[in-house]
Amino acid sequence: MIVNLRCEKCRTVYDFEVGKVSEDSNWNLVFENPTICPNCGVKNKDLLTETGQSQMTAWSFDQQSTK
Ligand SMILES: [Zn+2]
Repeated sequence: MIVNLRCEKCRTVYDFEVGKVSEDSNWNLVFENPTICPNCGVKNKDLLTETGQSQMTAWSFDQQSTK
């Protein structure tokens, strides 16, 4: 799925295809693809934007409805 992210380093906001999303045993989100900032190239230094947060909320509702 595509998630809206903000780079922790340069604060660029971008949409990223993260692949499959899952949760680890601590309920942290795990993305299939490592995120790469299109501006500075830093890997896995992303924060969810408000848009990203609501995308993930919608995702978790979907997960519950398919279980
Ligand atoms: Zn960046």
